[in-house]
Amino acid sequence: MKKLFVALLVFSSSIFAQQQDPPNIILMIGDGMGLAQITAGMYSMDTPTALEDFPITGLSKTHSYNQFITDSAASGTAYACGEKTYNGVLGIDPKNNKLESIMEYCQSKGYQSALLATSSIVHATPAAFYANVPSRKQYQDIALQLSESAVDFFIGGGKKHFNMREDKRNLIREMEKNDFEVVKNLDDYVASTAKRVGLFTNNDEPQPIAMGRQPNLAPAVNATLKKLNQKEVPFFMLVEGSQIDWGGHDNNLSYILSEFEDFNGAVAAALAFAKEDGNTLVIVTADHETGGLSLTKGNMKKKRISGEFSTKGHSGILVPVFAFGPNSESFMGIYDNTSIFKKMKALVN
Ligand code: MG
Ligand code: MG
Ligand code: ZN
Repeated sequence: MKKLFVALLVFSSSIFAQQQDPPNIILMIGDGMGLAQITAGMYSMDTPTALEDFPITGLSKTHSYNQFITDSAASGTAYACGEKTYNGVLGIDPKNNKLESIMEYCQSKGYQSALLATSSIVHATPAAFYANVPSRKQYQDIALQLSESAVDFFIGGGKKHFNMREDKRNLIREMEKNDFEVVKNLDDYVASTAKRVGLFTNNDEPQPIAMGRQPNLAPAVNATLKKLNQKEVPFFMLVEGSQIDWGGHDNNLSYILSEFEDFNGAVAAALAFAKEDGNTLVIVTADHETGGLSLTKGNMKKKRISGEFSTKGHSGILVPVFAFGPNSESFMGIYDNTSIFKKMKALVN
């Protein structure tokens, strides 16, 4: 009887061990996507937002190391590397130490990785996950660091920082020697059987979605998830809705809403994958709010919302965090943006 009990215990603990496989992590950042931007999207779209499907919500404090109002570099570094730093700095702490990002940490644990943005791929938010530079404006240095990173798949603009450089290097050719195929559109990205694939969506910064930017973020997410899901190993993926922030800087609510809708499509795609997969954590948040937007009028029948902006810059208000999947409960409550890194890292361990 005792032996049987021990055997059962071993059997059940091996099932338990299987359930503890390292999970996939999808981190989705709506740049400048505060609660007002989300609310405006919620009341103006024809269908419910994907965010309303998340069981867990929390709030994140976005201040940088020494300033109440963060920029995307300091906040990106907080999410990517778990440390508050000075505005403008990527992947380096206030004492000048180089930081390891969650993407690099995941790579060291055998994870695949992917970066998707609707800005250039060297812009501050995605760059925080692979670059260590004192200034976010060092685009050519950032491009070089991406070309030397272990990322498997990327989609974003900024091709000129790779192939029209002051140092005359052609980083695209260098990456192609490193198993990368660099393609021009989503069809070629989908069709590629290369081990690593990059899609440049623009030479410089991509257009707003309302002016015809291709591809939409949802099909980009689906195509990348399909590639990542072909292997048995887990993955880390960053998805940024970059231009919600640019609509905020322009104090242009329709720009914000069209970018929010594109980002929301990507969130829906990621959430559908996670529900099906069962071992994927999806986190959706913002790096800060942009525009100091408040919603002062609305017509629910016409689905029309209007608001007022209080700044052309960022604001210091808390931003929401939405989580689904393994350990999502740990994202409840109010915490510093740096905690998001710590919660993700704890899950990988
Ligand atoms: Mg930002
Ligand atoms: Mg950004
Ligand atoms: Zn901004």
